[in-house]
Amino acid sequence: MSFDYEKVPEVGPEALRLHLNENTAGCSPAVLAALRGLTRHDAAFYPDYTDVERATAAYYGRTTRQIALTNGLDEGLHAASVSWLQRGEDGQPLEAIVVEPAFDMYAACADAVGGRVVRVMPRPDLAFPLDAVRAAITPRTRLVFLTSPNNPTGLRLDDEAIAAVAAALPPGALVLLDEAYADFATGDYLACLDATPNLAIGRTFAKAHGLAAVRAGVIIAAEPVVARFRRVLPPYGLNVFAATAVRAALDDGEYLRWYRDEVARSRALIYEACERLGLGYWPSEANFVLVRAGTRLRALVDGLAARGIVVRDRSRQPGCDGCLRITAGVVAHTEACVRAMEEILCDGR
Ligand SMILES: *Cc1c(COP(=O)(O)O)cnc(C)c1O
Repeated sequence: MSFDYEKVPEVGPEALRLHLNENTAGCSPAVLAALRGLTRHDAAFYPDYTDVERATAAYYGRTTRQIALTNGLDEGLHAASVSWLQRGEDGQPLEAIVVEPAFDMYAACADAVGGRVVRVMPRPDLAFPLDAVRAAITPRTRLVFLTSPNNPTGLRLDDEAIAAVAAALPPGALVLLDEAYADFATGDYLACLDATPNLAIGRTFAKAHGLAAVRAGVIIAAEPVVARFRRVLPPYGLNVFAATAVRAALDDGEYLRWYRDEVARSRALIYEACERLGLGYWPSEANFVLVRAGTRLRALVDGLAARGIVVRDRSRQPGCDGCLRITAGVVAHTEACVRAMEEILCDGR
């Protein structure tokens, strides 16, 4: 690889996007090279997934029948809702449990197919409320959305807590474990999958691999669960660019390692800044940090925006009063953000 990873673009006049947890360095140069190699016929023919499915399955240590590629993980979340939340035989809605603060798509997908959303409210420290989740399970529960590391907190769930939720579900219900940020974490649930037949793991290439605009995700589960996803997924959900990009991204472990390291250094810079500035934060296992600014929230979010840095105001999410979420990506970008935060809060400008 001849690309110099350290030579990232300076913060230009255009906005620095630190609000959607995207890869602020872009995708691997190897991905772009693979896309450039596509031919007119590759564009003209329906895509053949044999190679990319084999490579993806091997990457996660599964068989091709234990994975389903999706048009972004969002499509996987939608497919889970379609498949598990269609009305019960008595015509009454089935229930999806959403543990707040949560990614918006869970409730949106459940609602779109006529499911009833049961929200579990957070504890003050935003730690996983296992007892409350178990208490929310009813005979009508069909889907539980769990996220590890969670968005927006960055907190990882214990394997034991995940297994305990799965064990408490009625027959025919599924845990959809969203591991969109597992590439940045100290561990994941993959090794426990075989012991949890009523659980599907969702992964995405949008975040660590920098393919958010390309749209590619994957569902990983036991064969019967994957078969149920495939029944509702369109046969060509992944276009040829996405299939080609995923194939190339899986091969470039060096890029992933480089970016994970940038993210780890960026998180540390944000923690240090928070401590200097007297802001609260949650130690994160993802590529973002949830910061509690309290009464200084507006000054911070608006002040950063005025300096061309976009962060996410999460203060309207349950349990996240006074909080903003900052993407931790390329170190130079984080440094720019931290400098701006100090300017705003120290000088009051
Ligand atoms: C970004 C994100 C997704 C969406 O992934 P796509 O592959 O872009 O659809 C899913 N879950 C969580 C928690 C996310 O933050």
